Amino acid sequence: MIKVNARATFSPEGPFSLTTIERRNLQPKDVLIEIKYAGICHSDIHTARGEWGPVNYPLVPGHEIAGIVSQVGSEVTKYAIGDRVGVGCLVDSCGECSHCHQGEEQYCLNGNTGTYGSTDRYGQITQGGYSTHIVVTEDFVVQIPDNIPLDAAAPLLCAGITTYSPLRHWGAGPGKKVAVVGLGGLGHMGVKIAHAMGAEVTVLSQSLKKKEDGLHLGADHYYATSDPETFKLLAGSFDLIVNTVSAQINIDAYLSLLALDGTLVNVGAPADPLAVNVFSLIAHRRSFAGSMIGGIRETQEMLNFCAEHNIASEIEVISADQIDEAWERVLASDVRYRFVIDISTMGQE
Ligand SMILES: [Zn+2]
Ligand SMILES: [Zn+2]
Repeated sequence: MIKVNARATFSPEGPFSLTTIERRNLQPKDVLIEIKYAGICHSDIHTARGEWGPVNYPLVPGHEIAGIVSQVGSEVTKYAIGDRVGVGCLVDSCGECSHCHQGEEQYCLNGNTGTYGSTDRYGQITQGGYSTHIVVTEDFVVQIPDNIPLDAAAPLLCAGITTYSPLRHWGAGPGKKVAVVGLGGLGHMGVKIAHAMGAEVTVLSQSLKKKEDGLHLGADHYYATSDPETFKLLAGSFDLIVNTVSAQINIDAYLSLLALDGTLVNVGAPADPLAVNVFSLIAHRRSFAGSMIGGIRETQEMLNFCAEHNIASEIEVISADQIDEAWERVLASDVRYRFVIDISTMGQE
C-alpha cells in the first residue's frame, strides 16, 4: 500500500483534519497521480453529511481532480510520467455491460465505482481528491489539454461534464434557445459551454444579483425567477432547459417555458420527489428528463472542447485548512463559482 496525506471528515458534522490514507499498490494498468488541485462539489457535502445514504468514515471527498502522472503500471499505454491528467466522479466500472461498451460508464448496469465512498474491485473503499495522490486505472483517467490551467480545469471533471453531456445530447447549438436554471458551480459552466456551442443562452436565476456575471460568462439574456412576469414573458420559448438547482422548484412553471418538443433536463438532484402536472408535458409534447455526469470518452471530448474554445471554470483557490469554511460558503451560495483546493497546502501527518 502507498500511504498518502489527506483531509478527511470523521463524522457528518466534520471538521476536516489531516490524516493519512492508503492507496493500493500500482496494478499493471494503474496510474499514480500527484494531485495538484481538487474542486469542491456540492455532492461532496451531501455525501459526507449522510444525506445520500450511509457513510463510511473517515471520508475523503473530492471528485474534481487535476494533477500530474508520477508513476505508471507495467501495462499502461495511454499515459506517461509528467502528463497532465484529470479524474472525475468515476474510477471504475464493469467494462462489460452494453452501457460500458457504449462509453456510458456513468450508467453501468453492474454499478460503477465512485471516486470516493464506493467499494472498488479490490474490496477497498475509495477515497477522493482531497489528498496528495490517487491511484486510478488508466481507462478512467483523462488528459487535460495544455492550455487549460490545472486549477481551473479541476471543476470541469464534474461541473463541466455534468452540463456538457445534456447540452450535447439534446443538441444545444446554433438556432437553439437554451436556458440554464441557477448560476452556481454547475450553472456557470452550463452558460459557458452552451454559449461556446453557439446556442442562444438565457440564465434563469432567483434574483438579478449575478446578472452582470451571467452576461459576462456568455449569457444573452438574464431573468429573475422571483418575478412572476418572467414566466409570462418567456412562456413557450426554450428548446432546452438545464436545471442545475437541487432544491424544490415548481417544475410545471419551468415546463411552461418550453417550446414544442422542448426538454427540461434535471442535473440537480433534490432529496424529495418533484410534483409534475402531466398536462404541462402533453400540451406541447414536452419532455422532463435527467442526466448524470458523462462517460469517460465524453469527458475527454468536453475537455478538448473547452480547450478549443478557451473556457474553464471560474474559481477561488483555497488552502487545505479552509475546507470547512469553504463548505459553509458553498451552502450559502457564496462562491463565484467553484472552490478549488491547492493540494500543495495539504501538510504532512
Ligand atoms: Zn460533483
Ligand atoms: Zn458496465
